[in-house]
Amino acid sequence: MADLSLRQLDKKYGSFHAVKGLDLHVEDGEFVALVGPSGCGKSTTLRMIAGLEEISSGDILIGDRVVNDLAPRQRNISMVFQSYALYPHMTVRENMGFTLKIAGRPEAEIETAVADAARALEIEPLLDRRPAQLSGGQRQRVAMGRAIVRNPDVFLFDEPLSNLDAKLRGQMRTEIKRLHARLGSTVVYVTHDQIEAMTLADRIVIMRDGLIEQAGSPDEVFNRPATRFVAGFIGSPPMNMAEGVIQDGLIRFGDGETLPLPAQFRDAVTAGQRVTLGLRPDDIYPVGHGLHAGEAVETRPLEVALTEPLGNETLLFVRFGGVEWTSRMLNPRDLRRGETVDFQIDLSRVHLFDGESGRSLR
Ligand code: ATP
Repeated sequence: MADLSLRQLDKKYGSFHAVKGLDLHVEDGEFVALVGPSGCGKSTTLRMIAGLEEISSGDILIGDRVVNDLAPRQRNISMVFQSYALYPHMTVRENMGFTLKIAGRPEAEIETAVADAARALEIEPLLDRRPAQLSGGQRQRVAMGRAIVRNPDVFLFDEPLSNLDAKLRGQMRTEIKRLHARLGSTVVYVTHDQIEAMTLADRIVIMRDGLIEQAGSPDEVFNRPATRFVAGFIGSPPMNMAEGVIQDGLIRFGDGETLPLPAQFRDAVTAGQRVTLGLRPDDIYPVGHGLHAGEAVETRPLEVALTEPLGNETLLFVRFGGVEWTSRMLNPRDLRRGETVDFQIDLSRVHLFDGESGRSLR
């Protein structure tokens, strides 16, 4: 295994600047998830690391080796694709052993490596089947087995679970996590699914327009988003956002509604400043139904516009400050559309972002 460094990594497609001087260090054994909206440059970055895409400038280091000019095969990297990319005419065993075979490894070594990986992934009974005789989840497991067999320095995953249904995706996610805990491998994992990133990664790198917007632990990016963009991208349902202006110690929203300026922002804003207030659905809830015992709560009677019961919790949709807010109610009780109830807004958990730059004011 090895660490991985990207230094001022840059990619231009003609005049289009897809990746803009990325700096990133992935520790030996670290699991890093690259997330961001479609077109932000995640796959291009991964493909440059793999050697499948030429870099325009910058450096890629694996361990202390600059690999910029090495062919993919010489980089000692394994990549797992969304499409699995299995050879249809080969059995599972042959697919898994193929790269070792063309590298000229002895038969006995290949057999042991394939058997070990098959055991780890619980696909031993499938070894003599061909890809067409496998389910989507089984194919993905074989693709991972093929990656493991090579014992690479770095694993690259490009949206490996996005072709699977929701239930299987959840199962495979757990398996990847277990596998990483066992192998301790260095991983770069591209996904647009922020839940996958949150559950799997040691560190999440949020990309936007070819740049890193924030890199941090799941806890950091969730609880201390550096920008409005990160705050809106991480978390499900998404963070509620409302535009306002600072006035007389209050945040005044577009419809004239106000909230007191939370204490933690008193020194961070100036009168007349435009801000975006962000609040997670967990931090606005009907009185007595919250996740946290808020120290600084504001109570407002709000009309429930819509309810979405999910079994162990219910999402409520209300209007406040000129926008629709989602509230997550734990221990659901029967609430009807059109009913007005007292909601608590936990001011201690409010996020504020500058209206111009979108940067967190904390
Ligand atoms: P997605 O989640 O949709 O896969 P992504 O973040 O992985 O998105 P990339 O595939 O890295 O995005 O693409 C980044 C940008 O570069 C996109 O705007 C894309 O259109 C552009 N791009 C990618 N490949 C090429 C190419 N071969 N020629 C020109 N532009 C390209």
